[in-house]
Amino acid sequence: MRYQNTYTNLDTRLYHRQPPTPLDNPRVGHFNTQVAEQLGWNDDDDLMTRWVEILGGHYVPAEFAPLSMAYAGHQFGQWAGQLGDGRGLLMAQVLDNNDQLQDLHLKGSGLTPYSRMGDGRAVLRSTIREYLCGHALNQLNIPASNALGFVVSDTPVRRERMEAGAALMRVADSHIRLGHVEWIASFAPDLLAEFTDYMLDTYYSECRDSDQPVLAFLQSVVERTARMIADWQLIGFAHGVMNTDNLSITGSTLDFGPFGFMERFNPAWINNHSDHTGRYAYQNQPAIGHWNLNVWLSHFMRLTQDGVTRDSLAECLAVYEPTFMQHYQQGLCAKLGLPHQSESLKLAFEFLTLLEDNLLDYTNSFRALLALVAPEDCPYEQQLLDTLVLELGDNANNEIGTNADTNISTDAQQVWQAWREEYLAQISLLDKAAVIVSLQSNNPVYILRNDMAQRAILAAEQGQFEEVARLYELLASPYTVQDRAIELDTTAPARNARQQPISCSS
Ligand code: AMP
Ligand code: MG
Repeated sequence: MRYQNTYTNLDTRLYHRQPPTPLDNPRVGHFNTQVAEQLGWNDDDDLMTRWVEILGGHYVPAEFAPLSMAYAGHQFGQWAGQLGDGRGLLMAQVLDNNDQLQDLHLKGSGLTPYSRMGDGRAVLRSTIREYLCGHALNQLNIPASNALGFVVSDTPVRRERMEAGAALMRVADSHIRLGHVEWIASFAPDLLAEFTDYMLDTYYSECRDSDQPVLAFLQSVVERTARMIADWQLIGFAHGVMNTDNLSITGSTLDFGPFGFMERFNPAWINNHSDHTGRYAYQNQPAIGHWNLNVWLSHFMRLTQDGVTRDSLAECLAVYEPTFMQHYQQGLCAKLGLPHQSESLKLAFEFLTLLEDNLLDYTNSFRALLALVAPEDCPYEQQLLDTLVLELGDNANNEIGTNADTNISTDAQQVWQAWREEYLAQISLLDKAAVIVSLQSNNPVYILRNDMAQRAILAAEQGQFEEVARLYELLASPYTVQDRAIELDTTAPARNARQQPISCSS
């Protein structure tokens, strides 16, 4: 691998250099060959043969420079003070085969000076969820951390019950969070200029060409964050804990805890069991992104160089909403295979209302549109469409039809029929092949439903990792109908079953 350990050049107040604490008897969970190739990990025999030892904390290659980072943050809207890597270490920074800097971060690696009351460990359950989610988002083309692999061990970890300790080698373009700057502002304000230079040169070097590099950098962070959150909304992803310490400065999804993918469409859905007020509900994510960036940007007021003023910072933040809207609306139209214009948006919002009113599955319903456009070529999508129409009938508690053309007798079905006609009228004006490509490439067949992850976890807790491996393969090509899928991979929960919130314990 091409090492580039630059974080260690920064002021030593920002981190603590230390090795991981070994796990007891680490064993293979899963290894991500794609990521190994991207990093050049697979070109090194020592790394390939000893990867379980490395992830288990028993062996630290000489080129690694492990350290825990200090950061702070606002959790659920409240200032939380110093946080930091309490159970993870930045192990190394490397250039991948696209010359992009990547952090290798071992999560679950034991105590650090930032562990506070925690034990420094991660359990198998949350490790598998993080492993599969990072992979799923990457394959859905959403900026996100990924992982090289994970190990399980005999180290006991106490949560609500005793569980097995595990460790994940997370790979992300950066582990600098918005909360890093909050830490500096509170505990080492003299480092702000140096740290800003580091962020700028390392992750936003193109901004050096601007007349005002710092402002260009800050605005780019705002734009990338807005686009990432638009991507989340479009795919139906709820992060669950959008605290400022969980948002990366690169606009890449980080820290998977009580996340979830939308199943039956409910914009007010809260996936985090501890989120009593719904602060991080799916529909609040865009506003929370803005709130977090506002907190973050205000700290740069201390920098008096480079045109940074209260007004110029406000201008950076003002870019958030139009960037989000542009990306979200364009993406929504693309999910219908339509051009970005007001007629398409009207149809898109009507479709979302239909899904919400009838609690239809978000992923399956969008994918079902392929059967309207190309019924002869899409047998899988035809089944989805049949289910959609069946459920519309069910919802009105009325006689139901089994396909889109019969028994249009209920209110919901009338709304659907009218929508469908309007949609097909708009489609008829377009190049059909291009519409099909747009539908296929913007509407996945497979997302990581909570129950899918849960089944893989239950098997893994019995020592069986085949289901993790199967889901890894399935989610590697989320836009392609695959034989390895089982019916449960694409089945929405029962309509009256509330989507189960996920516990924060991990
Ligand atoms: P999270 O809610 O997972 O983003 O974590 C918030 C903070 O708590 C971070 O500083 C974590 O490093 C820390 N933390 C979470 N779990 C543990 C643990 N088991 N041991 C030590 N620190 C932890
Ligand atoms: Mg976190």
